[in-house]
Amino acid sequence: MYIDGEWRPADGTGTISVVDPATEMEFARVPAGTPVDVDAAVRAARAALPGWAATPPAERGARIAALRDALKAQEAEAARIVTSELGAPPGFSKAVHVALPLRVLTSYAELAASHAFEEKLGNSTVFQEPVGVVGAITPWNYPLHQAVAKVAPALAAGCTVVLKPAENTPLTARVLAAAAHDAGLPAGVFNVVTGLGPVAGQALAAHEGVDMVSFTGSTAVGRDIGASAGAAVKRVALELGGKSANVILPGADLARAVNVGVAQLMANSGQTCHAWSRMLVHADEYDEAVALAEAAAAKYADRVGPLVSARQRDRVRGYIDQGVAEGARLVTGGSDAPRSPGYYVSPTVFADVTPDMTIAQEEIFGPVLAILRYRDEDDALRIANATVYGLGGGVWAGDEAEAVAFARRMDTGQIDINGGRFNPLAPFGGYKQSGVGRELGPHGLAEYLQTKSLQF
Ligand code: NAP
Ligand code: MG
Repeated sequence: MYIDGEWRPADGTGTISVVDPATEMEFARVPAGTPVDVDAAVRAARAALPGWAATPPAERGARIAALRDALKAQEAEAARIVTSELGAPPGFSKAVHVALPLRVLTSYAELAASHAFEEKLGNSTVFQEPVGVVGAITPWNYPLHQAVAKVAPALAAGCTVVLKPAENTPLTARVLAAAAHDAGLPAGVFNVVTGLGPVAGQALAAHEGVDMVSFTGSTAVGRDIGASAGAAVKRVALELGGKSANVILPGADLARAVNVGVAQLMANSGQTCHAWSRMLVHADEYDEAVALAEAAAAKYADRVGPLVSARQRDRVRGYIDQGVAEGARLVTGGSDAPRSPGYYVSPTVFADVTPDMTIAQEEIFGPVLAILRYRDEDDALRIANATVYGLGGGVWAGDEAEAVAFARRMDTGQIDINGGRFNPLAPFGGYKQSGVGRELGPHGLAEYLQTKSLQF
């Protein structure tokens, strides 16, 4: 465990097996943390809090830049580890899994230095102070990014952190700890405890010494964490599931909208929280869109990586079988294993999907696209908003103003207009059951701050 600025033996003897999803072979083991390890890490973070909170923000920013540089020096190794533990293709690991967190670290190095932590309001001076000790619990789908999206703003705000990474992908978190060490972060400011969710994760979320829990993962676990944070009156940020819609309005460049939409979903084998797993197409263009999607998906047959685990693969296959059973039309793909070994699932496209079907409602987290038909814009909007989620989305139209008008009526947190690029400064987070709070950029920084006002 990385606690109080050093690598320490774990309390218990339990270990977690780390398996390469492409070979199904164990290639590493990490210690399974106990509540004793979590307690030691939280104590270290508490002890480090006053010093770090009092460090001038520009200096905190300089430490974050040093962390970025230390991680950059390990870039190739970090990408190799993401590929080994998650199964992401090497090019995607480098270009997204590692490159994005480097950009996010850069953004918080700058934000720490430029943010106004103090303002005058009438006869008051308002200070923005760190929330305190943050317990960060992250999933496996973007292991380095999800960790950095919490750790960077927390450190910029002056908080100290204990990170519990997902059991499937614990090695990237150790790379981040090693980089923090190389960067000379003061002892206790950043700590990592590997372990199982219901043991180490639960102990961290419930610890009295944790002032805020920042969680990314499933809605089921998020709900429990939110409930226990509520009972303890703790700050909580939840980044949960999604069932995002790619809405193609008449007049859009249909081929581009379909191709970009399929690519957005297939990236990371569909294991992206804001994946466009639903495509909404007007009835007049429906057959053409389905044919385009079939051709686009075929291009990914040899390109998608495996899913993270046998459990995820089985879950996704179950959804495919359910789609067929509920009457959706399987256009390409299916639940048969395309190759072995490895937890692969074929890029799969369903047509004639209706909004009430399970594959139109639940987060599948795999390379499975559901194409739905709408009659007019109001119908499209009703379908787009007809899930419990609201994380991402896309809108395509011939005219940008028309796309914007539609996007403003969608109940979702982040929407790309005519293929707009991902922006690591834009607030990321969900409406409805997709979560509470926002990550990234200045809005992500605000999550880790609380205000104190002095009246004169
Ligand atoms: P998960 O169980 O919610 O895991 C997320 C994190 O929470 C992991 O670090 C996990 O540890 C930890 N955790 C689990 N139970 C906990 C508890 N009782 N208290 C505290 N922490 C706990 O998600 P998953 O099992 O990896 O994936 C299940 C589904 O969630 C996916 O199929 C997908 O639909 C969704 N998901 C969404 C996102 C997203 O970004 N929105 C990301 C991942 C998954 P362990 O790793 O040890 O379980
Ligand atoms: Mg789990």
